[in-house]
Amino acid sequence: MNLVFDGHNDVLLRLWRSRKDGADPVKEFAQGTTAGHIDGPRAKRGGLAGGLCAVYIPSPHDFVLKEPDADGHYLTPLDPPLERSPSLDIALEMIAIARQLDRAGAWTLCRSTAEIRKVMADGGFAAVLHMEGCEAIDANLDALEVFYAAGLRSLGPVWSRHNIFGHGVPFAFPSSPDTGPGLTDLGRELVRRCNKLGILIDLAHITEQGFWDVAKLSDQPLIASHSNVHAMTPVARNLTDKQLDAIRESRGLVGLNYAVTMLRPDGGDNADTPISLMVRHIDHLVERMGIDCVALGSDFDGATIPAAIADASGNHRLVEALGAAGYSAGDLDKICRENWLRVLASAWHE
Ligand SMILES: [Zn+2]
Repeated sequence: MNLVFDGHNDVLLRLWRSRKDGADPVKEFAQGTTAGHIDGPRAKRGGLAGGLCAVYIPSPHDFVLKEPDADGHYLTPLDPPLERSPSLDIALEMIAIARQLDRAGAWTLCRSTAEIRKVMADGGFAAVLHMEGCEAIDANLDALEVFYAAGLRSLGPVWSRHNIFGHGVPFAFPSSPDTGPGLTDLGRELVRRCNKLGILIDLAHITEQGFWDVAKLSDQPLIASHSNVHAMTPVARNLTDKQLDAIRESRGLVGLNYAVTMLRPDGGDNADTPISLMVRHIDHLVERMGIDCVALGSDFDGATIPAAIADASGNHRLVEALGAAGYSAGDLDKICRENWLRVLASAWHE
């Protein structure tokens, strides 16, 4: 089976919620569960051998997409900004779970591509700590230093919310990603520090202006870990062809998001969405940027995904569909792993 290193999942959020409900997150991941999308046994069955695991701070209320109107259009207002104090606690709790999984051998927290390769080859799950929105980080970036020491190697300055570092895009359909300002001065400082430390900067969820702000400032390849093609699904979270061109020029990548709202031409939250649509987004990404800039970013445990994939155990079905659509073994190696490993090596100064 073609082993996949995946650009985005929210399993830590699910495990954090399970722990709040009294479950043991290590047991849930190691022994498997029917909840959500990812655990060790299901990942293994589907060939999902690692990925960027998000520390994401949920808003106090449950996030719900705004009900679409008769035309299928919707504009979910941005969640209000979060306070740092509960955000920091939640981030610490999620990172603690990630470290407990590591200590128990349920997965391995990786800090280099050599470690990722070794864990994947040995049949384990290679987890890389990612932060999706930096509400837990202070203006002096002191917490960033500590998170880095704890293994953080990737971050998106914002989720679809505003914070002290920048502005996120709302969940809106149809909508341009150009919905407001980009990085703040502190956001620019964050980008510089990430460049220096060797922390990957992820452009999923940032406004188009924020995308260009990072493009101008960062010395890393441009990455959108879980985003799709705006020309096919005009949702604010997807990337315009102009953005794809900039990613290609930087030798960055886009990880295909399996979220049906970002795959379907109608933007609908409907799991009855064929795998062929995922292949079509990959085709467009490859046509526009070349095979070296396309990868996977499932959003497992973070979104409604096609019923035909269902959970991590069905991940191989996408890879098989890509093979059937004419992608060569070498192409699949790049899409499944090698492109991610190349950009991580670059951002991490290897
Ligand atoms: Zn996301």
